[in-house]
Amino acid sequence: MSVTTETAASATNWNLLADRVLDGHSLSREEALSILQADDDSVLSILDAARRVRQSLFGKSVQLYYLKNAKSGLCPEDCNYCSQSKISEAPIEKYAMLNAERLLEGARLAAENQSRTYCIVASGRGPTDREVDHVSSVVRQIKQEYDLHVCCCLGLLEPEQAIRLKEAGVDRVNHNLNTSERHHPEICTTHTFQDRLDTLSACRDAGLELCAGLIVGMGENHGDVVDVALKLRELSVESIPVNFLHAIDGTPLQKTGMLTPAYCLKVLSMFRLTVPSAEIRVAGGREVNLRSLQPLSLYAANSLFVSDYLTTAGQRPEDDFRMIADLGFEITAGDYDSARLLSHWKVPHQRSENCEPGAGGSCGCG
Ligand code: SF4
Repeated sequence: MSVTTETAASATNWNLLADRVLDGHSLSREEALSILQADDDSVLSILDAARRVRQSLFGKSVQLYYLKNAKSGLCPEDCNYCSQSKISEAPIEKYAMLNAERLLEGARLAAENQSRTYCIVASGRGPTDREVDHVSSVVRQIKQEYDLHVCCCLGLLEPEQAIRLKEAGVDRVNHNLNTSERHHPEICTTHTFQDRLDTLSACRDAGLELCAGLIVGMGENHGDVVDVALKLRELSVESIPVNFLHAIDGTPLQKTGMLTPAYCLKVLSMFRLTVPSAEIRVAGGREVNLRSLQPLSLYAANSLFVSDYLTTAGQRPEDDFRMIADLGFEITAGDYDSARLLSHWKVPHQRSENCEPGAGGSCGCG
C-alpha cells in the first residue's frame, strides 16, 4: 500500500490501513515510515485511523501511571538526554535510594491519583543486590496495602535480580530502548543497545511484563523511530512509553528544539498502528511538545503518567482528569471509576521533592 499526500483518496487509504490492522495485518517498515513522512495536512486522517484501532482494542479506557524517583542523579552512565548522568550539569537534587517510608508514601499518592500502576524508578547503571532486596521488601508491603500494579525501573538487571523482583510481587519492569540500535551510540557510550535488550530478555525469562519505549527528538531520523517500533513489536512488550524530548539545560541536548505537535501525533499513531495491542503511553515531554494539541494524543495512546516526571514537572493531575473526562474517556484503575475520579479532583497536586519546572529531564531509565 502506498500512502502519499493528503487527498480524499489518501484519507481513505489511512482508513483502509486501519481496517487491515484490525484484520490482523502487521505494518511493513515502509507503511510505518509513510505515516511519519506524511504531510501534516494528513495528521487528522492518520490520527482517526489510529483512533479506530485504539477504540476497537481499548474502548474508552485510559490507564494512569504514577512515578517515584527513588534514587536521583549520581549515575555513572553518559546518556546525553538525561539530567541525572555523569556528564549532566543540570541543577537537580541528588540522593541515594529512598527509605521504605518514602517509597510507601509514593504508593499512597499513586493510589490517591487514581493510578493503576506505581513506578519505582532509580537512576544508575543497575541496582546493587542490596538495592534489589530493599525494593523487593517495599514492594511486598505495597502489595499488602494497596491494589496497585508495581513497575520497577532500576537500570540494567542480572537474570537473578529479575527473578528476585518477580518473586517479591513486581508486575513489570521498565527498561526503555530509547532509540534505534543504529542511533544508540550517538546518545550513550557507557552501555550498548544489546545491554538493554539483554535486560529485557532477563525480565521476560523471569516472568515479568515488559515496559519499553523511546525518547523521540534526539536527532534520530524517521527510520530510527520506526525501527524502535518494530523491535518493540518483535519483543511483544506489554507497554510502550513514548517520550518526547524535553531538552534540559546542562545536558548535551540542551539546545535541541521542540518537536511539532503534528509530528508527535503522527509518532503516536504510527505506534498504535504498528503495535496495536500494546498499551501506548504518551509520556515525558507531552506538555511541552504537544502543547494545545495534548488531548488529541489520547486518540492514539491509551495511558498517561499523572503528576510529575522524574526531574520535571508534569501537568496537574486535576487537569489530566479534566482532559480525560472532556474527551469522553474513562480511567481504568482497579476499583476506581470515573465517578470516583471526579470526586477526587480536589486531590492536591503532589510535587516531587526535587521537582522544579524546567530543572530536570526525562530519564531513559523511566
Ligand atoms: S538514563 Fe538512566 S542510565 Fe542513563 S544517565 Fe540517566 S539515570 Fe543513568
